[in-house]
Amino acid sequence: MSRSIFRTSLLVGLMVLVFSTALFFVLRYSQSQDETYAALRQEAVYAEQGLMQGGEDYLRSLGEINRITWIRPDGSVIFDNEFPNEGSQLDCPEVKTALSEGEGQGIRRSGSSGVQTMYVARLCADGTVLRLSRPLSAVRTAIVSVTPALWAVVLAALLSMLAAFRASERIVRPINEMDLDHADAAAPYPELTPLLERIQEQKRTIAQQNAERETLRKEFSANVSHELKTPLTSISGFAELMAQGGVPPEKVQEFSGDIYRESQRLIDLVNDIIHLSRLDEEGFEPERETVDLYDLAADTIDSLREAAARRNVSFRLEGGHVCVQGVWRLLGEIVYNLCDNAVKYNHYGGSVEVTVSAINGAAVLSVADTGIGIPYEHQSRVFERFYRVDKSHSKAIGGTGLGLSIVKHGAQFHHAEIQLESEPGSGTKITLIFPKE
Ligand code: ADP
Repeated sequence: MSRSIFRTSLLVGLMVLVFSTALFFVLRYSQSQDETYAALRQEAVYAEQGLMQGGEDYLRSLGEINRITWIRPDGSVIFDNEFPNEGSQLDCPEVKTALSEGEGQGIRRSGSSGVQTMYVARLCADGTVLRLSRPLSAVRTAIVSVTPALWAVVLAALLSMLAAFRASERIVRPINEMDLDHADAAAPYPELTPLLERIQEQKRTIAQQNAERETLRKEFSANVSHELKTPLTSISGFAELMAQGGVPPEKVQEFSGDIYRESQRLIDLVNDIIHLSRLDEEGFEPERETVDLYDLAADTIDSLREAAARRNVSFRLEGGHVCVQGVWRLLGEIVYNLCDNAVKYNHYGGSVEVTVSAINGAAVLSVADTGIGIPYEHQSRVFERFYRVDKSHSKAIGGTGLGLSIVKHGAQFHHAEIQLESEPGSGTKITLIFPKE
């Protein structure tokens, strides 16, 4: 930042210098011209007076600072201190003007010397014209004589460089020394107060988010340990009893069945935790592909047919082939969890209807069951991790409390909206609306 302030202020300083120097020379040049004209006019007045009194000899005595030409009214030259044999001067504009208006002046290339020359011509009392001229280069030389002033410009440039460097350091130092660790830190410049307030606001938000994340993490670890411990305790208890021979032979099958069910729950739980933690991973961005939701739903229904048959629940797949750009595995987990719940929380002999459709260009998938429903006061919480409406019922039917959490995260990943409609005793319908593609 100090570099850019330095560069900007130096640039501004140099630009001011360059422009003012250029302006100085332009003004000085025009001033020099005016001064030269005035000097020539003054000298012409003196020369006329001298001429009237001393005649041509006076002109000769004047030396050669300026060219002096004395011209008859017909244009022929009486005297010229530089080019005595000049022809008629009647065509020269300054002479013409002097003859008609009394005085003429101008800058033009001299026909005799071939250089740009400044002329002043004056009509004398006797009707002749006295003309004084000076090469324009004399004016330029007068300007070049101020060149030493240029050194002052260079010096000023160096000084402005040093000043820009110092100024940029002085501006930046208080910003670098700003105390961002204290909320009441004062801004070194009033213009920075809004920025400082935004930084403090952001810090507060980040601290709050970190605290919330930490609470969630702690809750999650506590829940996970608890959920893992319960089936493990059962498994260990059953196995211990069997190892000590405390289980009568006719009960061995039942105990083994309990051990199998608890292990299965553990496997489901670990799988769900793995799925969720994958969705939680920062920068988790698996490759998307075109997924046909209808085919996906058909596959899922197939995989759940046996579980549904055990509860005499029937499946119906409605709608048609609608595709989304997504991750096949994640979409599969979403549809599986919704259909699995629709079977698990259904009445014996109930039904599940899965519909895939496109509404206003958006892919829509819904799973509706005729099950026990979710009481209104629980509806906003069932997507939280480990939240169950009826813990013992959920456990009894093999729930982990993570299914809808996986649905929520998977939907968020696909920017899909979730809608839940449920009526206790009548059934539940969960709809996913994918964004238009
Ligand atoms: P679980 O593994 O216990 O099913 P979920 O996260 O999938 O966990 O669901 C959370 C809770 O929401 C369930 O315990 C259950 O009480 C309720 N629930 C989910 N789906 C349904 C449904 N289709 N019908 C009735 N209740 C449901």
